[in-house]
Amino acid sequence: MAVLAKYTNGNYRVLILDDGTKIRVNNGEPFVPTRFESADIKITNQCLHNCPYCHEASSPMSVHADFARFKPFLDSIHPYTELAIGGGNPLLHPEFDSFLVYCKERQFIPSMTVNWRDLIQQKERIQKLTREKLIYGVGVSMPAPNERLSPEDEEVLKGALAELPTAICHLILGIHTLDYIQRLAQRFYSPQVLLLGFKPVRRGLEYKQQKDSVIQKNIEDVKFFFQDECDYITQELNLESVSFDNLALEQLDLLDLFRSKDPEYYMGDEGQFTMFVDLVKGEYAVSSTSMERFPLGGLTADEIFQRVRRGGEC
Ligand code: SF4
Repeated sequence: MAVLAKYTNGNYRVLILDDGTKIRVNNGEPFVPTRFESADIKITNQCLHNCPYCHEASSPMSVHADFARFKPFLDSIHPYTELAIGGGNPLLHPEFDSFLVYCKERQFIPSMTVNWRDLIQQKERIQKLTREKLIYGVGVSMPAPNERLSPEDEEVLKGALAELPTAICHLILGIHTLDYIQRLAQRFYSPQVLLLGFKPVRRGLEYKQQKDSVIQKNIEDVKFFFQDECDYITQELNLESVSFDNLALEQLDLLDLFRSKDPEYYMGDEGQFTMFVDLVKGEYAVSSTSMERFPLGGLTADEIFQRVRRGGEC
């Protein structure tokens, strides 16, 4: 494995390997960062899929971020910061590719999230972006169990995932059932999986109000299975790796376990090393689930992060 980046952040050193592994080191004190290590960056609210549970309420008529307006903020982000670029569908932003060239010049480490349909339709473009190291990781929102996936589409999706070594299948608790997760490896060759918590905000809230008992049951099934098998989950499911966002850990009652038993695998609480930036509206927040969002104004990246660490605007 090659070293992708190393830098000092406050009282510790960060090492990032090209398989995405991150290592923090110091002499044993609690880590106190002065800059954010990573940020979720929303660059568009446009998306053609209209998923009924979309927590960003993205739609075909929504607007894109104006990068020029936020150039001073972007220019103040430190090299080697990991940017998880999302939307909406980032591929629809007309300046997406030139934004990635800018990110490369600034030595950021960008990844992106796309819906499986967009991966199928634009796989050559996405493969090119990863080959040229304009994108490092690709998160793929996988089909919901009730979505029709023709055998032809499934073959193309399999092939696209196999050709993207950094692809991670995104699954949402409450939407993707235990049965779906258990069958995933048989259908998609031992993939890497990221389990995301269900976000009951915007359309996600409306969806929860309509389908609450189904969502709860689906989460309970996964929770029961994962709590029993937590130490052996990748072998049990034949997955290459399983990771969780903090909301998923909370919804699976695994947060305390990860904080205490596996601290080297726990990347920190929301807003401790990370933050969320909405370049469409020009707002920042502790995370994408925060309903409290604040204007970027003329603040630098470091100034915003210090506010995030204090819990928001001050
Ligand atoms: S959940 Fe993702 S794919 Fe679905 S509408 Fe929202 S941004 Fe688009």
